[in-house]
Amino acid sequence: MCKINFDFLISHAKVYGFIFPSSEIYGGLNAVYDYGPHGVELKNNIKKFWWKSMTQLHENIIGLDSSIIMHSDVWHASGHVDKFNELLIDNKDSKKRYRPEILIQEYVEKNFLNNPKKKEEILSRLFQSLQNQNLGELKILIDELCICDPIFKTKNWTEIRHFNMMYKIKNEKDLYLRPETAQGIFSNFHNILKSTRIKIPFGIAQIGKSFRNEIFARKFIFRMREFEQMEMQYFILPEEEIKWYEYWRKNRLKWHLELNLENKQSYKLCDHDHLAHYENVGSDIEFHFPFGFKEIEGIHSRRDFDLKNHEFFSKKKLRIFESKRNYIPYVIETSLGLDRLFLAIFSSSLKKEKLKNGKIRVVLKFPYYLSPIQAAIFPLVRKDGLPEIAKKIFYDLKIHHRLVYDEKESIGKLYRRQDAIGTPFCFTVDYDTIKTDTVTMRNRDSMKQKRIYIKEISNIIEQETGLKKIFKKLSYFI
Ligand code: ATP
Repeated sequence: MCKINFDFLISHAKVYGFIFPSSEIYGGLNAVYDYGPHGVELKNNIKKFWWKSMTQLHENIIGLDSSIIMHSDVWHASGHVDKFNELLIDNKDSKKRYRPEILIQEYVEKNFLNNPKKKEEILSRLFQSLQNQNLGELKILIDELCICDPIFKTKNWTEIRHFNMMYKIKNEKDLYLRPETAQGIFSNFHNILKSTRIKIPFGIAQIGKSFRNEIFARKFIFRMREFEQMEMQYFILPEEEIKWYEYWRKNRLKWHLELNLENKQSYKLCDHDHLAHYENVGSDIEFHFPFGFKEIEGIHSRRDFDLKNHEFFSKKKLRIFESKRNYIPYVIETSLGLDRLFLAIFSSSLKKEKLKNGKIRVVLKFPYYLSPIQAAIFPLVRKDGLPEIAKKIFYDLKIHHRLVYDEKESIGKLYRRQDAIGTPFCFTVDYDTIKTDTVTMRNRDSMKQKRIYIKEISNIIEQETGLKKIFKKLSYFI
């Protein structure tokens, strides 16, 4: 196995139609990307997998698709107008903006690798300053450590200030693009309760776009300004907060582990030491991306923070009425970034393998059920009636499965191309097919081939690449 570097990954994603830089013909746009023909299939499969695991496997989790633009009071009630801020520092020479805490963290990681005591001392000062929102002390740290602009190498910094991360819609007083999907769930709480008569504990799941004016947008699709979230808000009795928080932390980690990306050591569950404005306790599931361990999903106890504030601002009752009690439920949130999960799956599946003949093959070893294409159908050669047989198999089966038919190159090249986009199986029609009604079936990972009957193809694709197998496993712990 050969090592993959990040630039190779980005280039593979582009060349094979997974991810393109947005507006590339006009020079691109920082931290915005488009999903190409194979990317959109993979992304849709990930969404379907998450959606079904949440709504179909749990009896008491239902779905919602709320709008991106909401009444401005939503964002006042949720605290985003006042508190959804990042810290910002500008370098006057490079005119670049940075997050001061990240500048300090990266400096410490780089320069105090062999001096853990000093590293701990600085990180603890950083943590204290963030806790107390002491921006002056943060600036002193940057000056003391003589931290330079990473590009211009100068120390000509502005003061540190707060910066709200919501995108405001121009010419629309007080309207924003949503920075999280969750508020659509809270503002529909009453409608959902009334229209479904669902009982506590229950969850509402949603997949949708969110927008954040990220100052430090880097690392490909890991941190973008327009991204997608897969969120679930679980409404519970207030006294059961810790029980459900613990349940969802463990449940979500197990879900990730069942994806079987790399190995168990690729995940970490980390408690938040810096809480967001809405949360009481929280933790992150971190994944080992090509640039290190980083958050992929957050699990937060939002208590009654959101519903209570929406009650106050909207003057509507957002509570549960039971025989002897009326209360605002607590909420445990699971919030997963679709694009980050895409990157985790893509980066851990992309392999360069050295073959026995010394050549290198590039293969995307996606979990079968997520692959953009489930199987490819080829004729061995473009003559003697083989393409006609292969096309008939393709047309008969394409209504059931995501398939491609290809005959443009030699069989070896056709296999390599399917490896490079992660297709688990290739079925090839050859001269024996005419006599025996059989084809060769080639497996992406082992590259082994065997003969099977044409009539078996559909079943094999369904069993091997459908969601049934993985759902059976998941249903044990859900
Ligand atoms: P980070 O600390 O990395 O900025 P966050 O703690 O602000 O993330 P949350 O507000 O908890 O993130 O959002 C939930 C999930 O949404 C994150 O775990 C992540 O997967 C995803 N996410 C958040 N911001 C972005 C972004 N700018 N680009 C892509 N995904 C994002």
